[in-house]
Amino acid sequence: MRFRVDEIASVIQQEIEQYESRIDVREVGRVLEVGDGIARVYGLSGVMSGEMVEFENGASGVAFNLEENSLGVIILGDWLEIQEGDEVRSTGQLLSVPVGEAVLGRVIDPLGNPLDGLGPVRTTARRLVESPAPGVAERQPVKEPLQTGIKAIDSMTPIGRGQRELIIGDRKTGKTSICIDTIINQKGTDVKCFYVAIGQKESNVAYLIDVLRRFGAMEYTTVIVAGASDPAPLQYIAPYAGCAMAEYFMYKGGHALVIYDDLLRQAQAYRQLSLLMRRPPGREAYPGDIFYCHSRLLERAAKLSDELGGGSLTALPIVETLEGEVAAYIPTNLISITDGQIYLQPDLFFAGQRPAMNVGISVSRVGGKAQIPAMKKVAGGLRLDLAAFRELEAFTQLRTELDAVTQARLERGYRMTELLKQGLFQPMHVTDQVLVLYAGTHGWLDKYPVSEVSRWEKEFLEFIRQSKDSIWQRITETQDLDDETEKQLIEAFREFDQQFQEKLSASAIRV
Ligand code: ATP
Ligand code: MG
Repeated sequence: MRFRVDEIASVIQQEIEQYESRIDVREVGRVLEVGDGIARVYGLSGVMSGEMVEFENGASGVAFNLEENSLGVIILGDWLEIQEGDEVRSTGQLLSVPVGEAVLGRVIDPLGNPLDGLGPVRTTARRLVESPAPGVAERQPVKEPLQTGIKAIDSMTPIGRGQRELIIGDRKTGKTSICIDTIINQKGTDVKCFYVAIGQKESNVAYLIDVLRRFGAMEYTTVIVAGASDPAPLQYIAPYAGCAMAEYFMYKGGHALVIYDDLLRQAQAYRQLSLLMRRPPGREAYPGDIFYCHSRLLERAAKLSDELGGGSLTALPIVETLEGEVAAYIPTNLISITDGQIYLQPDLFFAGQRPAMNVGISVSRVGGKAQIPAMKKVAGGLRLDLAAFRELEAFTQLRTELDAVTQARLERGYRMTELLKQGLFQPMHVTDQVLVLYAGTHGWLDKYPVSEVSRWEKEFLEFIRQSKDSIWQRITETQDLDDETEKQLIEAFREFDQQFQEKLSASAIRV
């Protein structure tokens, strides 16, 4: 047997190389102190900011504060079992979550662990929780609508794919309901939905999941839960994790919608962590980078350029206000970051105007470009008209005698506000919306009492479906309301008018 020296040398060299890579340069440190979801660790000087570390008991953490002598770690998981002196290992990897089709239909925590008892999420694809937002060159203007199915929103503060629209309002004003309706309305479209519940009561989340299941919306939806009883670190990273899962679809050329419910809770969790880590507190004791915390999250919503596949990620952040205080710190930050806001007002809500959108101060800065032409035609002046009506209404409350023109404008306003009411879980097709809003703005409802408006709406849509389907089809196909169709529509209004009046007088006689 003969040995070849250079062969042996190369084998040895290879072994040495592999040996080095196998021992890895992972560091081991020790816990100095632990409590309230954070730990101070000594001896991990080579760790990157945002790197995952592993504790002896299997819990993982993220490097949050890099200090001169120690490392501040936020603990994602059970910190009660971690003890002083425990070993901590660096992993060399930044925090990531599982992504892909497999997460759809699942209820998971922000790390991708199942909460629905359906076993682990089967996917090998992962994305970093924190990844940079697409740059200017990688984007294009928002141009396709994201239909919420809610008349008041689609007509007056439309949302486009890739937009960020803030939903803001006091507690119990229907913020979550708007988002749930929007998710339900994405059924049959190519939009994947992600609902991130932050700091909410588990019972509320359970109810919401049940609703989504009932409407068959869980098939294309992922619910990411960091509940009120979960530690602050999980609540803090939940929106980034949800965003990463949604981004996957955007970068694949698809469309995704992500809802953060709500970012005030997330900001509070972040404040808690920052204070525990002794970062200097600023206004309202929030850390100095609280704006960046939200802006880097919301900037990740985008409409990608065609070269990158033209995918989109739409974000609907929710923020709760206290006593209608929109000028508080976190709400103003979010208002300035987003492309518009839908403001829900408690007194409208209690007066039965639901969704309780305040038309005057709700805006959408880009969505109008994404409205279908037919909707643009019928809803063009609606927002201003309604805002003017609200003012007029307040102004004329004290006066008893009104001139005919004012009276007529008031009557129209009453009918329009009635028409814009919409029940829970009844998202409406955009063509239906166009039809009824056309009727309202062109005075076809003026002769009926306000109390009959919702009946009129229901029966008219029924009538169209049964005997004037061609009009409906034409608007849906062309997305426009051409002169010919408009003529046919007016004819349909006349025909239905007669029927409806007969019905009304028949029921009046019966009474
Ligand atoms: P929270 O502050 O608890 O998060 P929220 O602002 O998200 O509340 P929701 O939970 O959406 O509000 O709604 C509060 C209540 O109002 C719910 O009981 C819901 O059924 C009711 N509600 C919301 N929207 C409508 C609507 N369009 N029609 C009828 N009821 C509604
Ligand atoms: Mg809510």
